[in-house]
Amino acid sequence: MSKIIIANWKMNLSVKEALSFLAKIKSSKNEVVLAAPYTFLGELAKHQRPDIKLGAQNVSQYEQGAFTGEISASMLKEQGCTYCLVGHSERRIYFLESDYMINQKIKNLLKLHITPVICIGENARDRKRGITKKILKKQLQIALKGIKNRVIIAYEPVWAISTFQKGRVKIAASTADIAEMHGYLRKLLSSMGKAGTKIIYGGTVNLLNSADIMSLKEVDGVLVGGASLKINNLNGIINNA
Ligand code: PEP
Repeated sequence: MSKIIIANWKMNLSVKEALSFLAKIKSSKNEVVLAAPYTFLGELAKHQRPDIKLGAQNVSQYEQGAFTGEISASMLKEQGCTYCLVGHSERRIYFLESDYMINQKIKNLLKLHITPVICIGENARDRKRGITKKILKKQLQIALKGIKNRVIIAYEPVWAISTFQKGRVKIAASTADIAEMHGYLRKLLSSMGKAGTKIIYGGTVNLLNSADIMSLKEVDGVLVGGASLKINNLNGIINNA
């Protein structure tokens, strides 16, 4: 079965680099999405390939009006976006986004048929305290309140994302951890009337671990941060799936 691979470029690259990147991505049976900075979207759309979808990394919780510096769902639609990340841990931590704001963003995207990729995940402290499942349940229940349409869930244990790994010690989730948590989320989503929702994994994914992670039946794809900034890595990950 085909998988979904989302490259989260975060605040990196230039338009020129992004366009050269786009031209070099290998075609595959998998769904490939580029979650690009806002200012790249229009240019990428002009050179869009049918096998690669465009995504944004964030959207405003408001639909329009006096919200200086914000970008609305309809503006994303105009730029050819069909996916948008919401609630990434960097947004929750650095920009204080709450589950309620995330719920509003999801509603705005769905009104315009843009697929939200909802990032959820526990931090190192939650994990140590043994409350991972409780945290994930709360995040999902609030984010999905009143939501009927199709969404994608990205499970991103915050302690396993490179941004939050301090010093030189790299901590990665094991495939057993990933399978267990995805299994839990699958059951939880079924109990919320959302059986069949795609769940992708987004703790650090790279060339070394992507094949093992994507071979798990519980995993529908991956959200790739740092490793998606090098074309050979991204092509390798896409072809490992
Ligand atoms: C992310 O932040 O979505 C992510 C997965 O980052 P990295 O791959 O760099 O750990």
